[in-house]
Amino acid sequence: MSHPRRFASKLLLALVASQFLQVLTAPSASAQGFDGLKVYFCGTGGPLFSSGRNQPCTAVQAGDSLYMVDNGVGGWNTLRSEMGAPVLNLKAIFITHLHSDHIAGVGEAAEQSWINGRAEPLTFIGPEGVDKLAEGFNLVYERDRVFRKAHHENENVKFPLDAAFIHSKAMDIPEPDGSAIALQDGELTVTAIRVSHEPIDPAFGYRFDYRGRSVVISGDTIAWTPLADAAQDADLLIHEAQNNAMQLAQSRMVSRINPRGSALLADTVTYHTEPVEALELARRAGVDLLVLSHLTQAGFPGFPDRFLEGTEQDDEVDWLLAEDGMTISLPAGSNELTVNP
Ligand SMILES: [Zn+2]
Ligand SMILES: [Zn+2]
Repeated sequence: MSHPRRFASKLLLALVASQFLQVLTAPSASAQGFDGLKVYFCGTGGPLFSSGRNQPCTAVQAGDSLYMVDNGVGGWNTLRSEMGAPVLNLKAIFITHLHSDHIAGVGEAAEQSWINGRAEPLTFIGPEGVDKLAEGFNLVYERDRVFRKAHHENENVKFPLDAAFIHSKAMDIPEPDGSAIALQDGELTVTAIRVSHEPIDPAFGYRFDYRGRSVVISGDTIAWTPLADAAQDADLLIHEAQNNAMQLAQSRMVSRINPRGSALLADTVTYHTEPVEALELARRAGVDLLVLSHLTQAGFPGFPDRFLEGTEQDDEVDWLLAEDGMTISLPAGSNELTVNP
């Protein structure tokens, strides 16, 4: 299906054949020869089923290291099987907030990367509650780790239990519009930005800065000016988007057959960002490219045309809709953005 896309003149669109299913390879296989930031869209849907879209999952490669931001159902398998990400170099999973569709898959990402050879410990980083998340998954996988080690370990294949253990860093950002350094790893700085997803509180977005390139991921939030300020002059802003008129229409449509679902849909119009608002934030931030993701409405009637109503008047901001399997490369020492659909 085609969908609206606008590209900056300096934006290189590289059409590459989708990669064939591949088993886990050595982490250097895709990390070698690339320096900069690379973003993997491993889940661009929301909590509802949407054909072809996993629950929220984004991964960011900085140099040879890999970091994830949220991971719902399906994201990990797409990332490791179809996208060529250096998953054995996974170092941390940043959590935006503790809604189930953003965290359902983080345990599998941690366990499967270790089973397949990740040798360094992994940390969950995010708002209060990530400590319990790590603690919980350490308990959930306690027996699995023993089984894997006993079954598969030999002279050449090791299963270090200290690398399986998930560490956590729960961050407190007291000011509603505040931010704080979440991670400093070599030339990479990751900043947590408090956003507003009330009544889910606290909730964070994240900014990655590496060798002059920068990517901001909004997490779930209303249109939040402090996020635009924190995203100032970033190369790439990945922002959630929901069309509320469409959401309410869908709520009315299912009200008779599914009153509970109808009420849940109607509840969500107070804590997301409209596409037109996301464009306005991108303009304010002065980013080179905006990608709309967390497309919960992708399966609804009227997507994408009705979803995008109002955006056609905006010629100032370059933007596109995220797709599962898409990557965007931002090589260090340049201002290129290369989109691989
Ligand atoms: Zn969400
Ligand atoms: Zn949420």
